[in-house]
Amino acid sequence: MSEAPALILPEKTRSIGRDLRRTLGADKVKDDFPTITAYSVDASIYKVVPKAVVTAETEDDVAATVAYAVSAGVPITPRAAGTNLTGSAVGEGIILDCGRMNRILELNVEERWVRVQPGLNLNEFNKKLEPHGLMFGPDPSSRDMCKLGGMLSNNSAGPHTLRYGSVKDNVHALRIHLTTGAWLDAETLADGDSASDALLAAHPPLAATLALVRKHADLIRSRKPKVSKNSTGYNLFGLVDGLEQGLVDLPKLFVGSEGTLGVISEATLKLVDKPKATATALIHFRHLEEVGQAVFDLLPLTPMALEVMDANTLDLIGRAAHSVPADAAATLLAEFDGSLLPIAAILDRVKAICRTYRLCQEPTIAVEKEHQEQLWKARNALYPTLYRYDAKKKPINYVDDVVVPADRIAELVSYLSAYFKNQDVNVAIFGHIGNGNAHIVPLLDVSDQHDFEAMVAGYHEIHQTVVTRFGGSICGEHGDGRVRAEFVPKYFGEELYALFKQVKAAFDPRSVLNPGVKISTTPFTEHIDYVRLSKPCATCGKCNSVCPVYDVFQSEDMSSRGWFEIVTAPGYEYLNSKRVVEACVNCKSCRTICPAGVDVSDLILQRRAEHPNKLAGAIFAWQGRPWLFEPFIKLMGRTQPVWDRPLPRKLLELGFAPVLRFLAQTAKLPADLVLPRLAPRLLRERHAELTEEQGHHGPVAYFHGCAANYFQDGVGDAVIAVLRKNGIEPVLPRQKCSGTPIETYGHIDRVKAYARFNVESLSRYETIVTGCASCTLSLKDYPKWFQGEERRQAEKIAGKVRHISEVLMGTDFKSVPNKSVPKTVTYHSSCHLRAAGVSKPPRDLIKRLPGVTFVEMRDADRCAGGAGTFIVKDYDTSQKIFERKRAAIRDSGAQIVATSCPACMIQLRNGLRGEVDVRHIAELLRDAYGQ
Ligand SMILES: Cc1cc2nc3c(=O)[nH]c(=O)nc-3n(C[C@H](O)[C@H](O)[C@H](O)COP(=O)(O)OP(=O)(O)OC[C@H]3O[C@@H](n4cnc5c(N)ncnc54)[C@H](O)[C@@H]3O)c2cc1C
Ligand code: SF4
Ligand code: SF4
Repeated sequence: MSEAPALILPEKTRSIGRDLRRTLGADKVKDDFPTITAYSVDASIYKVVPKAVVTAETEDDVAATVAYAVSAGVPITPRAAGTNLTGSAVGEGIILDCGRMNRILELNVEERWVRVQPGLNLNEFNKKLEPHGLMFGPDPSSRDMCKLGGMLSNNSAGPHTLRYGSVKDNVHALRIHLTTGAWLDAETLADGDSASDALLAAHPPLAATLALVRKHADLIRSRKPKVSKNSTGYNLFGLVDGLEQGLVDLPKLFVGSEGTLGVISEATLKLVDKPKATATALIHFRHLEEVGQAVFDLLPLTPMALEVMDANTLDLIGRAAHSVPADAAATLLAEFDGSLLPIAAILDRVKAICRTYRLCQEPTIAVEKEHQEQLWKARNALYPTLYRYDAKKKPINYVDDVVVPADRIAELVSYLSAYFKNQDVNVAIFGHIGNGNAHIVPLLDVSDQHDFEAMVAGYHEIHQTVVTRFGGSICGEHGDGRVRAEFVPKYFGEELYALFKQVKAAFDPRSVLNPGVKISTTPFTEHIDYVRLSKPCATCGKCNSVCPVYDVFQSEDMSSRGWFEIVTAPGYEYLNSKRVVEACVNCKSCRTICPAGVDVSDLILQRRAEHPNKLAGAIFAWQGRPWLFEPFIKLMGRTQPVWDRPLPRKLLELGFAPVLRFLAQTAKLPADLVLPRLAPRLLRERHAELTEEQGHHGPVAYFHGCAANYFQDGVGDAVIAVLRKNGIEPVLPRQKCSGTPIETYGHIDRVKAYARFNVESLSRYETIVTGCASCTLSLKDYPKWFQGEERRQAEKIAGKVRHISEVLMGTDFKSVPNKSVPKTVTYHSSCHLRAAGVSKPPRDLIKRLPGVTFVEMRDADRCAGGAGTFIVKDYDTSQKIFERKRAAIRDSGAQIVATSCPACMIQLRNGLRGEVDVRHIAELLRDAYGQ
């Protein structure tokens, strides 16, 4: 069989989206510029622009899309989170995104199995299993972004494969839609019994495959990879192994088939007990060759994970940043399960083993979850972190996933180090050493001829060497995709490869399922995205895992990673992408998490600044004239009891609707939105004696911002009260809006002017206290607006800004709060405060309050969806974002949810409607002072 060309007739290219919309509806089918741009990349080095994207919600959607693709001869690429490193989730026809099919359908705790949909994210899945003491064993380092459909189709593995195996070892059954139009329930059946005979009779492609496997069992057996992990080719080996035991083990065929044989709509998975206690050891070796022996010494302790990073990797990610000793030749990360042996006993033995090696220092041991996460942080985000190293030379995945016998990994690292040194190429080598699985990531500028040639030569030479000298596999867990497809026939030999092609032809005779992936002779250099590889984003998708908009829409065009791609694409124009550019809530969660140091939110704000919103501009201009604006606020504050009732609010909602359309099509002021109490007397009037205007002076300024001044929500008064209790008479300096809301609507000239004013006004103070998350971040970010001397001044200001929680946690309380607040309190961590690097002090502060029981809620670090004025700009989306937060607060059992930001308080109060009390941490402290 020759590789069937992926043909899309010219007239079809224009009508695919239209045809699909007719069947599936406009909500589920998109083919506009932002959508096809966002879906043209995954985490690989490739770019392929699709013609249309379907976001499937049901099995019927899947069946209709496949039927259309088959009848029209249009390629179809199933997609989950798009974090594969091989180009297997991009394609030129239809992308079938199964991310919205993300439910747990059935859970059997006693028998430890679960039936799930393919769009479920691994972390979310495990969080749901946690209360039952269970988890899914395989865990790729991309666990916070990847989804089960992608894991199943790649036969993913990860650090804990050492203990739990790859995905293929943890699957009971799959439900798959075939190009025949049939649904196949693929499970393990007894060979020759009536059920398996009936299944084979119902599915001719399956019968043909089984017949092939039986006929060529010897050939298949002889080519079976001899290493502990393999995800290359079709797993006909698993079928042969099954038949030897009298079983037709169908999941083995489909796990790892990369969407080339059918579309998975359900999976029944095995679960394992979540270890009750674990310990992590970080061990720095001075001599690489000792690592291999140490691994063998540690293996009898049945570690759950053994991960290695070589010296070059440590250099590239920055030793100082990760406290790695200068003389470390390799670092080993080992994790142990306390349910097998007591943790203390394990750690004694680990230390004893370590003493027999020439280490740089005593191993770092972590038993607390937070500390363990810290040790794993660098390892889990290694690949995108390498993006920071050089503006031109980027980590390129083309020999990224080889497997050798575990006892030869040190030899492999030595060989690779010498090879790349000879090529004059920097390389990071890390991976799952316990399984002999090495991730090799050279840093190259592939637009440069020398580097390009080095890549092509290395691709062939290293893969060949791994196979011939080490007896290894070219792929342990990442899959073949576009990158390894070219080498698959070389690895397995033409005879076995011919069987793979026959299997593919049996299931997909028109070659519509993910052509170009796995079974393809297209050179791996085809479709490399040279433009993208010159950009700072690794397309790892990590930001999507925290993007509240992606959380709601589960669609790449409504996601942080997608937006990076869209706003930096050559064809980008505000008008062809307004829908998505205006959808970002500017929570900055992407910036906080990005290992490559990219700030997507800033890029979006820059694009908005090219088209500032006129209505918002008029409002900010009005607010910029306090003599006009403040009387209005006070009047509204005085009359609020009259107009803030259901009927007048309904009239206001209707009256504002046509005006708010100029803010956004989605904007509204719903009658039932719980508004904050507007101040009949502004904060500066209530505390006039502290204002600069009245001559008050001192070293500490309180930058109250707009919300605390205009709202009488208790925040400003509480901040002042607790500062006074601690011996600080703060000055209320002259100030203008810190800039966040203004920047959000694109008016950066005004932001810069206000920043200049505030820098000048604040320059005479030693400490600048804030009580608002957004003001904190905005002031700390001021240097970005200026150059030269002005920038230096702004940097000085940024260095003096302290959120109230930092001020109070930085010293002993002058006056100890002694009034017990016998309440259970949880904490919602405001996004902008996290982005400003402040997340521990507010929690510590709450914990110090007498009588308080602090409970950490699930998803505390996720956006609540208020995002300043976003609650008005897109109320419906903002409420959908809040659903996750509401559930987390409820499940925490807290009586009070504390936060550090007046804007978040609006969203929390509106969403919770009194079900749980909402307080600023300064208010809680003031209560504890009995004031
Ligand atoms: C920083 C980083 C670290 C990583 N670490 C690891 C690691 O430790 N171990 C590891 O194994 N991998 C790792 N990966 C690779 C990747 O994350 C995993 O392979 C992951 O399981 C892919 O899942 P996904 O949801 O992103 O799938 P996608 O990329 O969306 O898809 C992967 C494949 O699955 C197919 N597919 C998706 N859904 C379906 C469906 N419903 N039916 C049929 N086919 C479908 C796609 O067509 C594609 O071929 C890492 C990636 C990154 C960026
Ligand atoms: S912006 Fe950062 S986190 Fe997001 S995809 Fe790019 S590199 Fe990954
Ligand atoms: S700022 Fe928030 S909403 Fe905007 S892209 Fe980043 S994570 Fe998503």
